[in-house]
Amino acid sequence: MTKFKLEYIWLDGYEPVPNLRGKTQIKAFDSFPTLEQLPIWGFDGSSTKQAEGGSSDCMLKPIRHFPDPARKDGILVLCEVMMPDGVTPHASNKRATILDDEGAWFGFEQEYFFYKDGRPLGFPAQGYPPPQGPYYCGAGFSAVGSVARKIVDEHLDLCLEAGINHEGINAEVAKGQWEFQIFGKGSKRAADEMWMARYLLQRLCEKYEIDVEYHCKPLGDTDWNGSGMHANFSTDYMRTTGGKPYFEKLMAAFDKNLMDHIAVYGPDNDKRLTGKHETAPWNKFSYGVADRGASIRVPHSFVKNDYKGYLEDRRPNSQGDPYQIASQILKTIAEAEAGTGSSLSEAEAAA
Ligand code: ADP
Ligand code: MN
Ligand code: MN
Ligand code: MN
Repeated sequence: MTKFKLEYIWLDGYEPVPNLRGKTQIKAFDSFPTLEQLPIWGFDGSSTKQAEGGSSDCMLKPIRHFPDPARKDGILVLCEVMMPDGVTPHASNKRATILDDEGAWFGFEQEYFFYKDGRPLGFPAQGYPPPQGPYYCGAGFSAVGSVARKIVDEHLDLCLEAGINHEGINAEVAKGQWEFQIFGKGSKRAADEMWMARYLLQRLCEKYEIDVEYHCKPLGDTDWNGSGMHANFSTDYMRTTGGKPYFEKLMAAFDKNLMDHIAVYGPDNDKRLTGKHETAPWNKFSYGVADRGASIRVPHSFVKNDYKGYLEDRRPNSQGDPYQIASQILKTIAEAEAGTGSSLSEAEAAA
């Protein structure tokens, strides 16, 4: 028997943005356990805005597990929060009710700032560093400092060793700002891995005494870039059938559902989606080929390939919940695919 360290990880009840929480229990197994072998566990919901003090137990139901590369015999156990009966999803548990389809693929581009002493890593104590320009994909100490690259590389290794589909890294436009990408098939799978990647980044940063700032416009109304979480998406139908009439129907559905999308694309997005700095205004839907100032960017390859492939919704922000973002995108696509017999339109009909 081996004593495994199980880190149960969940999203708390804070609004508008939940925090990641985790606690450890030790369990012995003959070998690396299956998901089914991991027991339901409880926690004090009154400490996480998930219950009143009087009756405060909530349940943690394991839904995905990953080897924890940072701990000997460690396992990262991603959980859904359930009511005390163990079967009813808690109101804060958005994952339980989202639309999913394994033919729907998502690539999330998570942007964020490293923060230290209340300001972006590398900012002087007073004032600002030289303006944006050299930082994006930059190399050299004056562009990226001395620790950021160490952290993002360590994070990449942690993700890959855990089996998380981390796809790449780049230094972003603002000083102290970075991006990583996570790709997954299915909205739950992609979003689970994004939440786990966020967790690993935050935990890793503890030893550097650095925080991860996910707010979409931490430097306010300045010339410093905000942070997004562009959502690249494709469905089976989009990749294999597509076509211009379908594409136009799809864009009309996105236009019609504008407010439903903005509602789940992360808080304070009006401060970021101003129409400046390669953003589209939050309250007007637009799309364009290779247009980084549009709500949805249509890659050249999509048009060349007779309107087949993937699209990029540039509006979701860095604090957005990938579960709800992916689900809303699928709801809108399902409207455009209704009646086609596609797997997504069937999934929506069944939901
Ligand atoms: P950008 O040029 O916008 O910075 P990135 O290279 O950062 O683009 O991100 C592109 C994302 O698109 C990646 O996460 C990738 O996995 C994703 N992607 C590529 N092909 C598809 C597809 N067919 N369906 C969904 N996402 C895809
Ligand atoms: Mn990118
Ligand atoms: Mn980016
Ligand atoms: Mn992008």
